[in-house]
Amino acid sequence: MSEHEFDFLVVGAGSAGVRAARVAAGLGARVAVAESYRPGGTCVIRGCVPKKLLVYAAHYGEDFEDARSYGWTSSRQFSWSTLIANKDREIARLEDIYRTLLKSSGVTLLEGHARLLDAETVEVEHRRYRAANTLIASGGWPMLPDIPGIEHCITSNEALELAELPRRALVVGGGYIAVEFAGIFKGLGAEVVIGYRGEQILRGFDDDVRHHLHDELVHKGIDVRLQSHVRRIEKLDSGELEVALTTGSTEQTLRVDAVLYATGRRPNTRGLGLESAGVDLDQQGAVIVDAYSRSSVPNIFAAGDVTNRIALTPVAIREGAAVAQTLFGGVPTPVDHEAVAHAVFSQPPVGTVGLTETAALRAFPSVDVYVTSFRPLRYTLCGRNERTLIKLLVDSASQRVIGAHMVGPDAPEIIQGIAIAVKAGLTKQQFDQTVAVHPTAAEEFVTLTNKRTIKSETEA
Ligand SMILES: Cc1cc2nc3c(=O)[nH]c(=O)nc-3n(C[C@H](O)[C@H](O)[C@H](O)COP(=O)(O)OP(=O)(O)OC[C@H]3O[C@@H](n4cnc5c(N)ncnc54)[C@H](O)[C@@H]3O)c2cc1C
Repeated sequence: MSEHEFDFLVVGAGSAGVRAARVAAGLGARVAVAESYRPGGTCVIRGCVPKKLLVYAAHYGEDFEDARSYGWTSSRQFSWSTLIANKDREIARLEDIYRTLLKSSGVTLLEGHARLLDAETVEVEHRRYRAANTLIASGGWPMLPDIPGIEHCITSNEALELAELPRRALVVGGGYIAVEFAGIFKGLGAEVVIGYRGEQILRGFDDDVRHHLHDELVHKGIDVRLQSHVRRIEKLDSGELEVALTTGSTEQTLRVDAVLYATGRRPNTRGLGLESAGVDLDQQGAVIVDAYSRSSVPNIFAAGDVTNRIALTPVAIREGAAVAQTLFGGVPTPVDHEAVAHAVFSQPPVGTVGLTETAALRAFPSVDVYVTSFRPLRYTLCGRNERTLIKLLVDSASQRVIGAHMVGPDAPEIIQGIAIAVKAGLTKQQFDQTVAVHPTAAEEFVTLTNKRTIKSETEA
């Protein structure tokens, strides 16, 4: 009889943990997964899925307006409580599916907070379990700055469960979660201000994408205040929040009903006992891992947001599955983090894969840039002045497409297809040889001709 109750104990039943547990159990391992909240993790319970449902809801406002030009007449009335109740029902259904999947895979679900006591012992709700291998898949958590009145603010966690839609909202931050929630609130009828300390929203994305989305958000009536810092927040007797904000050198006061902080997420490693097991963390608190997601302790692995590599669900799922394959499949499996596509479900949405123009110039001496911007056909009848951006970056020497970016309706759906071509290393000529699907916005990806060539500084 082994001294271990489990071959594999996973901390966290989110995207990485559930996949790792199920794959390991399928390979014959005795597996347990500990979960302190609800199986499904951030993505299912308070991230991608509920957020996307709210994004769909938010888009109906514009769709109803546009529909008039297509001959439809309709009355527009929106109920936040109906939306949230329906969303909650769907999330509960998905949580049940996760529970069933774990059970039917033979995985033991340990409900409660897990803490490592040493490299082979994990405590959950005062019970100790011995495990030969452990996977830390505890995800991330929103970061909040230490400013006066921060206790009156919400994060994306609470934004998905508000009892009422705020009439006026300040969204602090410029990353994808900030612009997505700004779009949700705005689309549902709120007045929205984005306050971001940086020079442009969506840091890390291609500059053309950043500027294009910024302009479209402003067009839609979102008040985007760049280089803005919140100094303090005060709750008034009326229940409103008064926010002292500095934009550039101007000091202002805003009165809103909600302040949503979306200023980044931190790896969730506090209170996990990783120090007692000897696991090394980086300065942000992320578990340091090698290409096989192995930590500094040989039988402890980490996958997903807790490793702070690429904080996206499909990446977490891949990393979790790879750990299970490495440990129980007899195949050491690294995860390839190159050319991972990203989407931003803003309004309009963004899809992007591969290098930005700045990164391309760092990696290649000469880059061909193809960009187009146009009004999509669907907006011509209704006169909506929203433009779509499509951009391709090509290594001048090999003609390989090294980056593809889009802002516009359906961009996330379209970029998933383009990502296959970019990942496969196809050339601009091969894109051009592909006959277009007409009339679509995506056809621009195979018909781009307007080229400018840029050289890296060492080459110029
Ligand atoms: C608002 C929002 C929107 C997002 N939208 C997208 C999107 O559109 N597309 C996309 O790809 N990604 C999106 N993400 C990111 C995505 O949700 C994460 O990358 C993904 O969930 C990471 O999976 P994970 O397994 O690493 O962690 P998680 O899914 O966070 O799972 C970690 C689990 O561990 C549990 N846990 C933590 N500590 C313990 C403990 N000590 N004991 C027991 N259990 C513990 C937690 O309760 C949680 O269930 C979004 C995130 C947020 C917040």
